[in-house]
Amino acid sequence: MIVGNGGPASLVGRQDLHCHTNMSDGRLALQQVVEVAAERGVQVGIADHVSRRYDWMVSTREKLERYLDAIDGAPVFRSAEFCWCDGMWSELPDEVMARFDYRIGSNHGFRMPDGSEESPWAEELPAGWRHRPQALMDVIAANLCDMVRTMPIEIAAHSTLLPPALTRLEGDPHAWWTDAREDRYVEALAESGVALEISNRYRLPHDRLLVKAREAGVRFSLGSDGHSEKQVAALDWAAETARRVGVTDRELFVPERRS
Ligand SMILES: [Zn+2]
Ligand SMILES: [Zn+2]
Repeated sequence: MIVGNGGPASLVGRQDLHCHTNMSDGRLALQQVVEVAAERGVQVGIADHVSRRYDWMVSTREKLERYLDAIDGAPVFRSAEFCWCDGMWSELPDEVMARFDYRIGSNHGFRMPDGSEESPWAEELPAGWRHRPQALMDVIAANLCDMVRTMPIEIAAHSTLLPPALTRLEGDPHAWWTDAREDRYVEALAESGVALEISNRYRLPHDRLLVKAREAGVRFSLGSDGHSEKQVAALDWAAETARRVGVTDRELFVPERRS
């Protein structure tokens, strides 16, 4: 047990609830993730991509059964990263969803008003939006509010990610995450009870939003989003950020491994 400053052990930085394996796009086998996590003294949740988007994901019911059987047999929390942009999460029966200790939702694609889909990694503004980047940001923020209110999830991963198409115009996140948008998203998180991931991989969210979320009673999880030996169970930035904005064990979402 790690004890700091004479106080009780804190869970901040000791739980990585967002790890990938080679059952989706991670480089490590499940057993290797377990070993790396044990070396680093971190409990891990396995959250591979469960979505029909690509064949390399856990994209069918058969693959999902195999995935669940594998993580059932390992000393890990059992989770999955579901895509907001794919409906697989809405079609799985309750008894399958109940096999996860918690579930993660991610905006890997968001819906535009005309029904088309855009990527949060878009390098260019969509046609018709070139002169309206702030209106595009309204769409992104509204998608996130819908996501946490709609999906059967406990954690929203890397949710405040901004497309390069926007950050190239202005690198300061507050230019896009305005007070009004932050307030709407924090309200959606507080009302839905979905925890906000502090992403070690993407170094998100920014402090102002984290502080507002904490003050609104939102809970937090720390996630490496690790795909490699270097990344898995490595939470330096996320733990430092959590402490900086006043997140203690009381504000953490802590899963239970159900039998
Ligand atoms: Zn993701
Ligand atoms: Zn991920």
